[in-house]
Amino acid sequence: MTLTEKLTTEFRQRCEGIATEKRSLLNIRAFEPLPADLLATQLGATILTPKQIPNLNPCVVAVLLDSDQWSAGIINQNPLWIVNNPRHTPARRESNLMHEFGHMLLKHKIVRFDPDTGFPLRRQSDEDEATYLGGCLQIPRRGLLWAVQCQMTQTEIAVHFNASQEMVQFRSNVTGVNI
Ligand SMILES: [Zn+2]
Repeated sequence: MTLTEKLTTEFRQRCEGIATEKRSLLNIRAFEPLPADLLATQLGATILTPKQIPNLNPCVVAVLLDSDQWSAGIINQNPLWIVNNPRHTPARRESNLMHEFGHMLLKHKIVRFDPDTGFPLRRQSDEDEATYLGGCLQIPRRGLLWAVQCQMTQTEIAVHFNASQEMVQFRSNVTGVNI
């Protein structure tokens, strides 16, 4: 099932509304890029690399720094601390962080770790919702429409919004805006 089939129209419209609201608080319009670090400041979030996590076992730090198998995660809610994989590209970093802001803005419960396996016990419905809102924050539907009206290519849209080509394609697919 695709994300648009799993999430209701109402939920998806709500996400576009949240993205609009966050941009207006920062005086950023739908067609302008919203840097994740700017939104982090507005949300009071601190972005950390594994090395910057206080009291984390050096062996765990080494494992995390050697792996591409994870992207980001909320490690503390108040104050809000988000750990991000520094191995990822700048475009991935943007979408990783927007996804985590999505969890936070939708008030999802923080993910616990399975004490037996060490893996995070993620809830797929929460992941789907955070991915959807993260995409709206990065490229709002109205921003994508603007880019199409400007006859921008997929690559130009990606560069403009600090996004990956995959994110632009994903937003086109879920919003029905043909690029
Ligand atoms: Zn997630």
